[in-house]
Amino acid sequence: MEFCPKCGAMMFPSGGILKCNTCGYSDELEDNNSYEVSEEIKAKETVKMVGEDVDVLPTTTETCPECGHDKAVYKLLQTRSADEAPTRIFTCTKCKHTWRAYD
Ligand SMILES: [Zn+2]
Ligand SMILES: [Zn+2]
Repeated sequence: MEFCPKCGAMMFPSGGILKCNTCGYSDELEDNNSYEVSEEIKAKETVKMVGEDVDVLPTTTETCPECGHDKAVYKLLQTRSADEAPTRIFTCTKCKHTWRAYD
């Protein structure tokens, strides 16, 4: 919703411009596509992984105990009772070694 900078009344889009029906002020329509653009950027931020089974998991900077690589994907595993911190299962993005860590 846009408001007239001159009189503060509601402005209505008409023929590519915003027009104030109260005082007659008009302005060009802008920010028309800003919403769609930001949605597109979000989609491109999705991390692409090498494996097929890990490409939906988030990455973290965790050092692999096997090969020393510093990036791993992880998932949370709620093991025993619900009041315990979930176990994090890491999978090295390089050698696919899997290990677990406790918070
Ligand atoms: Zn106005
Ligand atoms: Zn590794």
